[in-house]
Amino acid sequence: MGVAPRHIAIDGPVASGKSTVARLLAARLHCLFLDTGALYRAVAYIALARGVSPDDPAAVALLVDSLDLRIQPDIRSALGYQLLADGAPLDVELFSTQVSRAVSPIAAMPYVRERLIGVQREFARGEDVVMAGRDIGTVVLPDARFKFYLTASLDARVDRRLAELRAGGSSMSREALRAEIERRDLRDSSRAASPLAKARDAVEFDTSGIPVEEVVARLEHAVTSVR
Ligand code: C5P
Repeated sequence: MGVAPRHIAIDGPVASGKSTVARLLAARLHCLFLDTGALYRAVAYIALARGVSPDDPAAVALLVDSLDLRIQPDIRSALGYQLLADGAPLDVELFSTQVSRAVSPIAAMPYVRERLIGVQREFARGEDVVMAGRDIGTVVLPDARFKFYLTASLDARVDRRLAELRAGGSSMSREALRAEIERRDLRDSSRAASPLAKARDAVEFDTSGIPVEEVVARLEHAVTSVR
């Protein structure tokens, strides 16, 4: 029997640092990396682009069924993979304010989750992987060998996301961003279908005020000190 792949789940609320930490940890451990939020964002982006209402489950289900969503390993890209929707690569457009507003209602639709969870499990099958999301430790990879739940104070999370948005040229106000983060967290944690939750066996880590390199080093130590 072969050795089971090393699956590492990193969950947490908006801007808790999970995607950045997961990407850097994957590079250190020479594992694959997947930011699962990008898949939900891809469906939201395509829905908006094709005039499908993010509040219409039947229309979004039809869209998801017709959409060819692929994750293709690409060592030249910063993420280590490319996300393709019907053959077209998706990247920074996934992180616009409009997509951030539309994504939570879409991610709450059980049919959408079922389809995207299938894509995520397929990606992880037989591979060492660090996966970031909301329900990785609880639903997507419940048998993951390592599970981390990253949190940070609301102020720290608003600061982080605001810095990212400013770097990208956005002029969104702090107050509007704070309200959007609170709205998205509430929706993600109160939905019926695989809500944002800490797995019982996950290690919780408050990253407020801790530099990202230090968070990565601590997680790397936690993983590599277990044989
Ligand atoms: O991680 P990010 O903020 O980019 O995720 C965007 C949205 O995708 C989240 O607000 C949530 O609604 C949804 N999501 C999810 N399950 C995941 C990852 C993301 O529902 N595993």
